[in-house]
Amino acid sequence: MDYSSDSFEKAFTYTGDDLGAVWSPGCTRFRLWAPTASAVRLRLYSDGGSSAPTGEYPLVPDIRGTWTRTLDGDLHGVYYTYLVTVDGITREAIDPYARAGGVNGQRGMVIDLARTNPDGWTLDRGPRMAITDAVIWEAHVRDLSIHPSSGMEYKGKYLALTEENTSTAHGFPTGLAHIKALGVTHVQLLPIYDYGSVDESCPERRQYNWGYDPINFNFPEGSYSTDPFHGEVRIQELKQAIRALHKNGIGVIMDVVYNHVYHRDDFSINKIVPGYFSRGASNGSCCGNDTASERSMVRKFIVDSLCYWAKEYHLDGFRFDLAGIIDAQTIRLARQALEKSTPGLLLYGEGWEMNTVVTKKDVSFASQKNAGSLPGFGFFNDTIRDLLRGPLFESADPGFASGGFVPLSELNEAFLGHPSWTEDPKQTINYCSCHDNYALADRIQLARPGITRLELARRNRLAAAFCILSQGVPFFQAGEEMLRSKPSGRGGFVDNSYRSPDRVNALRWNAFENPDALRTLRYYQGLIALRREFSLFRLRSREEIRQKLHPVPFGAHTPGYLLEDDGRQLLVIFHPEDDPLEVKLPTGTWNALVWDNDAGTRILFQAEGRILLPPVAAAVLTADTTIKVKLN
Ligand code: CA
Repeated sequence: MDYSSDSFEKAFTYTGDDLGAVWSPGCTRFRLWAPTASAVRLRLYSDGGSSAPTGEYPLVPDIRGTWTRTLDGDLHGVYYTYLVTVDGITREAIDPYARAGGVNGQRGMVIDLARTNPDGWTLDRGPRMAITDAVIWEAHVRDLSIHPSSGMEYKGKYLALTEENTSTAHGFPTGLAHIKALGVTHVQLLPIYDYGSVDESCPERRQYNWGYDPINFNFPEGSYSTDPFHGEVRIQELKQAIRALHKNGIGVIMDVVYNHVYHRDDFSINKIVPGYFSRGASNGSCCGNDTASERSMVRKFIVDSLCYWAKEYHLDGFRFDLAGIIDAQTIRLARQALEKSTPGLLLYGEGWEMNTVVTKKDVSFASQKNAGSLPGFGFFNDTIRDLLRGPLFESADPGFASGGFVPLSELNEAFLGHPSWTEDPKQTINYCSCHDNYALADRIQLARPGITRLELARRNRLAAAFCILSQGVPFFQAGEEMLRSKPSGRGGFVDNSYRSPDRVNALRWNAFENPDALRTLRYYQGLIALRREFSLFRLRSREEIRQKLHPVPFGAHTPGYLLEDDGRQLLVIFHPEDDPLEVKLPTGTWNALVWDNDAGTRILFQAEGRILLPPVAAAVLTADTTIKVKLN
């Protein structure tokens, strides 16, 4: 059967909003899309583990390939699966639309979602802002709290994010308190939907995974909950974490991996409608399978899932893993649907070109090169990343921040938020570290073996200054601000720590006891505050940038920029070399805000005429006479 043919789609595209188990006090209505099935039965269980079924009920065929059944009574907390017969073979599968599930996501659970809402949930709301006003911090739930120095009670759990005022033994803020002090606007969490690589049934065993191996897209991962055996607990606890972040003014962005599943043939939709969810043997994602987002009911599944999370969990944005696998039309439709139901979300993803084999003709993908046809959707900017830290696959080669030569023209395009694939600063997510590849400090060390700790910190800060002050959207991996390292234990570093133990991945909060790390934290705080103080760092269009931002280089290796609008002037210089450099400032009195090891919104000193730039450092000076802040 050609699932991608017009005739199939015409006959079997269901557009209703009631797929799944719709709970009400008096009855629960079940609806499953299984157009090729000859029989569908609903199985009920008393738990989500391995107990025997308590009942079995046939579903009846309904419109557009769906099957339905209504059961009377309050079914909240009842677990269920479907037995689906196709071509004489019967498979048991979890409901792809299950909103809750049991341990390890093998059975769905009927749920009254209102019972999972924390106190104050109806009034809960995350921040809304232009994406260029955001500063995004990427973190893994377990990494955040698992280290002994975190001072947190719920180590490795969602609930750690609800713990206020935690600190290390030496009093350095950790977790939520750290995030607040850092000043970022959004936390992006690595996968929090149910993934398969960690066995939830033995929490005492030390296990780790980033979680890019989805098994259920519509309920949270259980290993981050205090009780993965009761389907409602993980939902309650994730909502509590989101509530705590929102209460502190911080938005939450969810990392979504619709581009592939853990094991193709074990995934629910592929059991219910054999092979429907995936593009045959296509493996552009390098994870064993690619999602056939171009098929109408896969597209609907993705759009429904996004809208559900946004609404039910009050999320503030989505980061799409390998958006380049997903067709552009699905992303456009998702954006439209989200804009209608929960407006103002931040949407962006990895727009790499992947070698995927689609099931329809004339499909274009949500990749960087199609950015023009995807307004309102941003892409990770690998150009700025590689300019600052060096090429991805030649880890001994330096980038600008590690002292390598980079042509000014390339740096200018990066700083102006103008990579080759977009003219719109709202579409460029600027970063020099994320969970993938080496941590920034490790990458700098690889390019400069034997570098001192002091210089490493300076070069890390130089990269951060360039990235955070560039036009576009600043993004960084949690811990970049503490010179986070992922040591291999054999003298090197881990570049793909997706299943490395905690000793590689954990955020080591006691790092702040080191003065270089602490200075680096203060510097990041200062850069973020500076970016938020001056809208000139957050311009929203190419046109505005063209009018207000001008390159004024101070040497072949030392880019400089003048930013100006009504009454405000900023001069930004990046000096990557080991020697100081004498430069002549433009006419007037300049107030230094970023200089040497310091960054912020306070004036450090005033200067006129010629001035000596410190080695390996950024400088920001303002001639702004209206600046609110006082002389230090
Ligand atoms: Ca799981």
